[in-house]
Amino acid sequence: MTLQEKFRENLKKVKAYQYALTLIGWDSNTEAPRNSFKRRSEMTAYLSKEIFLIQTSKEYSNMIHELYNHMDDYDDLFVREIKKAKKDLDKIVNIPEDEFIEYRKLINDSQIIWEDAKKNSDYGSFKGNLKKIIDYNRKFALYYDKDTNPYDTMLDDYEEGMTTKEYDEFFDALKKDLVPFVKDVLKKSNHQYKELRNNHYSIEKQKEFSQYLLDEFAFNRKSGLIKESVHPFTWNTSPEDVRLTTKYLEDYIFSSIYSTIHELGHATYEQQISTEFDDTLLSGGTSMGIHESQSRFYENNIGRSLAFWQTHFNKFKELFPEQSKTYQAEDMFKASNHVEASLIRIEADELTYPMHIMLRYDIERMLFNQEISVDDLPSVWNNLIEKYLGVRPKNDSEGVLQDVHWSDGMFGYFPTYALGSAYAAQIYYAMKKEIDVEKMIKERNIKAINNWLKEKLHQFGSSKSPKELMLLVTKEAFDPKYYIQYLKEKYSKIYN
Ligand SMILES: [Zn+2]
Repeated sequence: MTLQEKFRENLKKVKAYQYALTLIGWDSNTEAPRNSFKRRSEMTAYLSKEIFLIQTSKEYSNMIHELYNHMDDYDDLFVREIKKAKKDLDKIVNIPEDEFIEYRKLINDSQIIWEDAKKNSDYGSFKGNLKKIIDYNRKFALYYDKDTNPYDTMLDDYEEGMTTKEYDEFFDALKKDLVPFVKDVLKKSNHQYKELRNNHYSIEKQKEFSQYLLDEFAFNRKSGLIKESVHPFTWNTSPEDVRLTTKYLEDYIFSSIYSTIHELGHATYEQQISTEFDDTLLSGGTSMGIHESQSRFYENNIGRSLAFWQTHFNKFKELFPEQSKTYQAEDMFKASNHVEASLIRIEADELTYPMHIMLRYDIERMLFNQEISVDDLPSVWNNLIEKYLGVRPKNDSEGVLQDVHWSDGMFGYFPTYALGSAYAAQIYYAMKKEIDVEKMIKERNIKAINNWLKEKLHQFGSSKSPKELMLLVTKEAFDPKYYIQYLKEKYSKIYN
């Protein structure tokens, strides 16, 4: 057996365990009965440990190093796999085992401590754990690469090739051009269309509308399905098995509509990846940012466009005649783009959303540059959100304690959310040069948009980096100007 074949066989075993874990995870987040919890934890712990043992074995490590030292013998695709495997290996093997176990335990304990702290709005009870999590993350990043700023190492974990230098440029552009614009819009926005947004909408009819959307967006039902969950998500085991969830709220119609379309974006990306990558490390979407660019593209650039509501308002009226009787398609368009300064990130609209990300990025960068400490977090948080959006939290539950990410050790993740929207805008303008997007939406031909994305972006899976993909799709490097231009054009029209 050649070394490459040995690598493939090893990976197949890991993929089989991951396959089982993914389906168990899907089940536990959608339909598994409450009492299945204990047995499931036992079984998933066993499967996860098997993967860990394979990936940390001496045999595996020798194999990867051998491949790494002979990369010249292989083609570009396999070289990319070897580099990925080597990077993942270096991330784990340099951490002393006792520290790794201690850290996993810390993260486990911190979940409940954070949940209670959030419930009681008691930052003090979480602060100690948070400090330990931050210290570990800094340490681990330095074990991996002692010459790189630890926060840069973390940023690269979630978005290959991104560093503070690039994110600084991105967020500085937003601060300069977008913050004043957002403040202007907020002055003009009022609580219009509340009776359209927050009326009573039967869950049964909402489900019908979600099913309708699946077909309109040309979702391949033979290779996927939809269920419900508290926090909508998309999971896949291959392009031929892609599952998404949505969330129905009786008094807020846009929850299910836009969760469904957002997750359809993630799902379409996964369904359109070439199956040739299934047994490689190049399967699945390439990065958090690119994945989020696809979900946001479908959700915002398509789903919240005037053309979209001009095309689908009739169906909406048919399902909800009472709630919609005094309204036109244009009202629906405006209602779905309602702008409001909110304290909570996950409730934020398309325009104010990047402000929430900006402040998290500022804080993470200052924390890892040791310019601020965990003691300063609540006040720094409150000052920043007031600076960017003009609102101030009454307590830490609606401020620094609102997100799960930090309690889970995820630093460097947040910026990819804003980056995703910015990628989406740049891709949108590139697409418009080649196809008439508005016309496709109006002709109920979203399939044509899917095809364009498949050819330019989706099919490649992780075989190309985010930077390579942006160049390929838009013919230029990432540039935040498109995002700012897109938001200004759209919201100037809505709010004059
Ligand atoms: Zn998403």
